[in-house]
Amino acid sequence: MRNKYANIGKPQKVKCKRCGKRSTLEQAAAQNWNTVFDRGRATGYLCHECQTPAENLEAEVNHATIEYMGYDQYGRMWGRPKTSGERGRQ
Ligand SMILES: [Zn+2]
Repeated sequence: MRNKYANIGKPQKVKCKRCGKRSTLEQAAAQNWNTVFDRGRATGYLCHECQTPAENLEAEVNHATIEYMGYDQYGRMWGRPKTSGERGRQ
C-alpha cells in the first residue's frame, strides 16, 4: 500500500504547471515560485517566469498579510492574518 506521506523527510520536488520546469520545494521558495490553490488545497506550482504580474502581486499580498501555519488533516493550507503591532489592535 502506498503511503501518501512517504515523501516526508526527503527533498520535495515541484513542477511548474505551465512550462513543466522542475525544482525542489526549497529552491522554488527561494526563487519566488507560487503555490497554486484550488479552494484552499495546493494543486500545483508556478515558476517565477510563468507568473503573470497579477499572480505575482496576489502572492506578494498574501505573503505580506497571511502567516501560513501549515496543512490541516485534509491537506488544506491554513493561515492567520499577520498582526502588525499597534495597527492590529481594536
Ligand atoms: Zn514555468
